[in-house]
Amino acid sequence: MFNKKIFSEYICNKNKIISLSIFIALNSLFLTACVNKNTYRRNDERPLVLTTFTILADLARNVAGDRLQVESITKPGAEIHSYQFTPSDIVKTKGAKLIIENGLGLEAWFSKFMISSGDIPNVKLTEGIKPLLIDGDVYSGKPNLHAWMSPKRAMNYVDKIADAFIKIDPDGALEYSSNASAYKAKLESLDKELRDSLSSISKERRFLVTCEGAFTYLARDYGMKEAYLWPVNAESQVTPRRMVNLIKKIKENEVPTIFCESTVSAEAQMEVAKSSGAVFGGTFYVDSLSDLNGPAPTYVDLLRHNVRLIIEGLSNAAVKK
Ligand SMILES: [Zn+2]
Repeated sequence: MFNKKIFSEYICNKNKIISLSIFIALNSLFLTACVNKNTYRRNDERPLVLTTFTILADLARNVAGDRLQVESITKPGAEIHSYQFTPSDIVKTKGAKLIIENGLGLEAWFSKFMISSGDIPNVKLTEGIKPLLIDGDVYSGKPNLHAWMSPKRAMNYVDKIADAFIKIDPDGALEYSSNASAYKAKLESLDKELRDSLSSISKERRFLVTCEGAFTYLARDYGMKEAYLWPVNAESQVTPRRMVNLIKKIKENEVPTIFCESTVSAEAQMEVAKSSGAVFGGTFYVDSLSDLNGPAPTYVDLLRHNVRLIIEGLSNAAVKK
């Protein structure tokens, strides 16, 4: 909001009184917003659980049912790897019973955030999983962070969430276990649905080109190859070398359509499309859900949306167009 420097500049200004009035008015608006936020919190007496990003919030809500209030710290569309948290994010943690993170180093900001938030229990949903490793580029050999991108692996997340909820609210154990089972059954049938859909693409066409290397788990579980412009959004630097390498791969493998993700700029990928002769096939949702009116307001919608774009772009029918 208002820092001291801006404030003193205002005071030094000729229009002292006018400026001071603006300051007071804005300050009172800010205070009103704070009061409203606290009032909202008091109206919802369910224990508060926070997640680092919107996809985890959706998974957690499916397990929580009506027993818990679940909110994401980052908003739809936010870049989650190098997110700069704000004082109001810290305010949100007041009274929280649990904070849920992905882990594997996805949230580069998380340890600092926890220091600022104080002593709140947290759970890392990828703890104990065997991660797939990044192949090539500066992150070579490091774990790929996007394990939720395959529904099979998201089921592990759901189990971890249920365990964590039972710890903070043992009375709800039956409800959490039953919600988790029902949601995992939904993910199981989603897995089958995606597998059936993707089988319409012939094997040699199953080559997924994206901006971030975020599809490794999905590609592995559904028999696709992948290539990308950069390995991790935290280091999303477009270099001529990376662009040239990707263009070469697209040409060698005759990839007809390439994609980019909602939380980064698609500008460089559009250039890659032009130079390689591929078509730009649209925007995937990976690190964030869309807002409620968008194509990916839930995790299940997100996967369906991505797979629909993949089929539209890579199926034999699409290639013949
Ligand atoms: Zn990412």
